[in-house]
Amino acid sequence: MTRRRKIYEGKAKTLYEGPEPGTLIQHFKDDATAQNGKKHEVIDGKGVLNNRISEFIFGKLNNLGIPTHFIRRLNMREQLIKEVEIIPIEVVVRNVAAGSIAKRLGLEQGTRLPRSIIEFYYKDDALGDPLIAEEHITAFGWATPQELDDIMSLAVRVNDFLSGLFIGVGIQLVDFKIECGRQFEGEMMRIVVADEISPDTCRLWDAKTRKKLDKDVFREELGDLADAYREVAQRLGILVETENALSTGPRLVE
Ligand code: UDP
Repeated sequence: MTRRRKIYEGKAKTLYEGPEPGTLIQHFKDDATAQNGKKHEVIDGKGVLNNRISEFIFGKLNNLGIPTHFIRRLNMREQLIKEVEIIPIEVVVRNVAAGSIAKRLGLEQGTRLPRSIIEFYYKDDALGDPLIAEEHITAFGWATPQELDDIMSLAVRVNDFLSGLFIGVGIQLVDFKIECGRQFEGEMMRIVVADEISPDTCRLWDAKTRKKLDKDVFREELGDLADAYREVAQRLGILVETENALSTGPRLVE
């Protein structure tokens, strides 16, 4: 085996140098963390599931003309991506009150918000990813006003697509987080969706029972996290229930 150059190691993923200039390899680990890294566990199979689920979602976004960094999946744990300059902002879109907004504004968990709300958090572990306003982003130069417009329109398009995708398989998309990056191609620069979209970065509730099928299962110690993620993959038609074999299309939920 040849040794690859590691570019960056995060809590749940590692980035390696890619096979060609302008590409990287994104490797999904089994590590789960919460409370800004204070809670940590290795969950067998989580990386494989998130690689598959994120591949499925990013592939569909690309097909819809919503630009992403994703090129193709390479193996069980890795995908080939375009190298981008990550904008240091977490973009959260919320449809239903849960997590930090419920706490901050005293809303009951599960209340539908008057409309979808976009929030921004500054990516800084030492500060605990503080909530910020658009003003901070443009004043400190983390993104230009034009880039911020592009980011918000990407966030809305991703929300529309994901909400429909999940409700079709009996899952309510409560909220999710995306990260965006600048992709340079010659003289051109465009903002693309980067990182991952998976049950690690979304709140997904069963539409009927409200059973949680996302990282809150780990955060709140509600059961087996990999089982929850497997259920999401099965409902999306990525995993076939009986044989754990791979399939192609989504499975209709009665
Ligand atoms: N989220 C994420 N990474 C983070 C923080 C939040 O993927 O570092 C996701 C989280 O899974 C949820 C949404 O963003 O789907 C909103 O999270 P919230 O602000 O409610 O924070 P939390 O309650 O997760 O601390």
